[in-house]
Parts: sequence; structure tokens; C-alpha cells
Amino acid sequence: MTTAAKTDVKGSYDRLMALSKEAALLGTCSSLLHWDKETYMPPGGAEHRADQLAYLSGLIHDKMVDPSVAGLLARCEGSRLAQDPLSVEAVNIRETRRAYDKEVKLPKRLVEELARTCSLSQQAWVEARRDSDFKKFRPWLEKVMKLNREKAECYGYARSPYDALIDDYEPYETSGNIAKVLDGLQRELVPLIQRLAAAPKRPDVSILTRRYPVEAQRELGRRAAEAIGFDLDRGRIDTVVHPFCSGMGPGDTRITTRYNERFINESFFGIMHETGHALYDQGLPKERFGTPMGSAVSLGIHESQSRLWENFVGRGRPFWTHFYPVAAKSFPEALGDVELDAFLHAINAVEPSHIRVEADEATYNLHIVLRFEIEAALLSGKLAVKDVPEAWNKRFKELLGIKVPDDRRGCLQDVHWSFGHIGYFATYTLGNLYAAQFYARAKKDVPGLEASFARGDFRPLLGWLRKNIHGHGARYRAGELVEKVTGKPLGHHDLIAHLKAKFEPLYGL
Ligand code: ZN
Repeated sequence: MTTAAKTDVKGSYDRLMALSKEAALLGTCSSLLHWDKETYMPPGGAEHRADQLAYLSGLIHDKMVDPSVAGLLARCEGSRLAQDPLSVEAVNIRETRRAYDKEVKLPKRLVEELARTCSLSQQAWVEARRDSDFKKFRPWLEKVMKLNREKAECYGYARSPYDALIDDYEPYETSGNIAKVLDGLQRELVPLIQRLAAAPKRPDVSILTRRYPVEAQRELGRRAAEAIGFDLDRGRIDTVVHPFCSGMGPGDTRITTRYNERFINESFFGIMHETGHALYDQGLPKERFGTPMGSAVSLGIHESQSRLWENFVGRGRPFWTHFYPVAAKSFPEALGDVELDAFLHAINAVEPSHIRVEADEATYNLHIVLRFEIEAALLSGKLAVKDVPEAWNKRFKELLGIKVPDDRRGCLQDVHWSFGHIGYFATYTLGNLYAAQFYARAKKDVPGLEASFARGDFRPLLGWLRKNIHGHGARYRAGELVEKVTGKPLGHHDLIAHLKAKFEPLYGL
């Protein structure tokens, strides 16, 4: 290769990364506007904010499909930069290609129509849910499904249109593989939940709904977040209606929560969850910001980090061995007469319920199985939108054993479909499955891991996550990462083992 050709390749790569960073800078500006919309924006600013966000989305799209990208990619691919597939450059080229090929296939008309339809459909969903009336949402869901089908056709797919949509949230994953894993999980989960329901030892959940003053909750939540490693010099915790975590870029990761004086779980485990997301964001290599090597792998891997800290650490005995005396001091009125064992059982109560976001660690996954099956049936045409409530209620009864009283507590409970997010739900259970595999591996790799939690030291776990997951950015695809770290492909065995090991002793089984 001549010196000129080498310079040309290097120059093309640098230009490609510069474009990627420009798109990411615009993306983080948009994140900040979203964060402000949820926290401080006065209601009167909604319309102008929608214009600002739409304008930024257009600019990001333009950056991603910049006319120079195809040529730049072609010069980088097949060059020496792409030779070692796990090098920083090769990964950045691979993932930039992936993003470009998808974005360029979507006609601007479809992007705009999806955005417009979804903002109107969200409004319709709010009203339909309020009135528990599916008929009001039905025409919108029909439009959303039609546009999503069209999107899948534009992307193209090997086996099913669902694969094309899932790829937006969990790159390289397929509906066939998810169906297989969920099937195995469901087979073991349903009998476990039934056994727990029939167990003689019951938790006293009423202790969780005693009075927990908000100021003390705020303090305890902040202490827990800091203890597990959230750096408040590079992050914030604010209060909102619908909590989330948002990475604004290096040095600025914001989590949000909501406080309920009559339910300690809502803010405490909400903060643990969002902090798990935040630790991932804070652990991405900051010098690679704006490129795939400085980005998360997928929503499922992101969710594995939040679930790991929320459930595997935050609902475990070692964590509370350290934190319970602190909590009991913070809430003398609510917890003064409660033993650690009673508290542990209460925060780990397993009980089929209607609302996904309030579900426990075990039944939660059945809510996802249901949504996954319904979405797949809708996309394949086996299920018509008008028949969703009936199909939902029937399958819900089979999976969770309880009747759905109304659509508000049934098929109208989640915002995702109104946003146009079809294929998203599976990433929640993928997160639980990945978390179980990572956590089991971390316990093997780090001797005395849980003993360190009991001393209030969470650095050994965070260090392990930084080294094995966070620091790699998007170097490995999700399936590759889980195999590399845990030595086996995605499966349900570690999650089932974790649930049994935790719940059976609590329930006296
Ligand atoms: Zn999450």
C-alpha cells in the first residue's frame, strides 16, 4: 500500500468518526432537552420543545446518512484498519456500517410519519388508558403496526419482520432465539411461582407501606447510590413522574426517581435500578465518546446492569446486612420493630399482579412472555389489533393465574406501543437473563464478593463489571459478550437457579 493510500484510509476513518461524534453531540443535546422536559420545563414549553426535538432528530438523521459516509466506509472496509475484527477501528467501522445501512433504508417520509403518528397515538393512549377503553386506542395501534411493518420491510429481514424491529433495540438478536429462551424460562418459572404461592411461610408486605418520610428516603437513596459507585460529581439524582436514566455524555449522567411516602420500594429500588444504568454509562471509555467503542452494546445489556444492582445486589441479604441498620435508623417509626429477616422477605414477596412495572423479580418475566407473544402474533398477522384485549386476558390468566379486571390493568398499561416501540419489551427479560449469567460468573471470579457487600464495599463488583463489560463499549455483540464473559450462550438456567436459591429459603421451601 502506498503512503498516499494509507493516509487516505486514515483520513477516511477520522472523517467517519468525526461525523459519528457530531451525531452523538446532537444526540446528547437532545437527551438534555428530554431530561429538562421531564424535570423542570413548564407545561407551556411543550410545543416549542417538540419543535426543538424534531429539528435535532432531523439533523442527526442527516449526519448519519451524510452523502460522504458510503464512500468513507468503502475506503475503510477491507483496509488494514479493519483487519483485526476486535480492534477499536474495526469495531467502529463495523457498527457505523450497521447503523448507516439501516438509517439509509428508511425514507424520510416514513421517519416523519412514524414520529407524527406516535406523538398523536401517545395522546390517544393516555386517554384510552384513563378511560380503560381499548376502542379509543385501537385505530392508533393499527396505524402504529402498519408503519412498523413498513419499517421492517424497508430494513429487510431473513426470517420474520419481527427480527428487523427487534434489531433496533437488541442488535443481532432474533425472535426465534428469544422465543426459544423465553419458552425454557416459562416452563420452569410457572411451577416455581405456583409452589411459592402455596408455601406456608408468607411475607408481611404491610411493613413496606408504613410511613417513610420523603426526606429520609432521599437521603438513604443517595447514600445507596454513592455506596455502589455512582459518582455525584459526574451525575445527578432528580425527581420526576416517570423515572429514567440519561447519559448526557462523559462526566454527566443523570438519574431520576419518584418518592411515595407510603411505599419505600418505589424510590429505593428505582434508584438502585437507575444507578445500575448510570454505572454502565459512567464506565464507558470517555475518550471514545460518540463512537461505537464508547457506546453501550444493546438495551438488553444496559438492562442487565440495572437489574443486577437492583435485584441481585439490592434485594439480597449481604447488601442489607450492611444497609438495614442504616435504614432502620432512617425510618425508626416504620422499621423500629422489624427484624432484618421480615424486611428481606417483604422486599422479596412473590405475588402475581396485573401491572408489569410493579411486578416482583419472578413474575415479571411472565409479563414479558405475554407481550412478546402478542407482538409476534400481531406482526405475523395471526392476531388482529381488535382482538388484542381478548388474547391478552386469556393468556394472562394462563400464565399468571389471575383474571384481568379491565384494559387499564391489561393491554393498555404500557406506553411502549403508543411510542411505536414494537420489539422493545423482550429486552427487559434479556436484561434479567444476562444479569443472572454475569452475576453467577462474577461470584466465581471474585472470591468473597458478597462478603464485601456485607461490609458495605461494592468496589470488587463494580471493578469486575468495568473490566468485563463497561470498558469494552460495543466491541462485542451482546451474544458474543455473554459467551466471552460467562463461557456459555444466553439461557435461562442461571436466572432460575438464582430465583430458587433466593425464594425457596425465604418461603420456607
Ligand atoms: Zn431499566
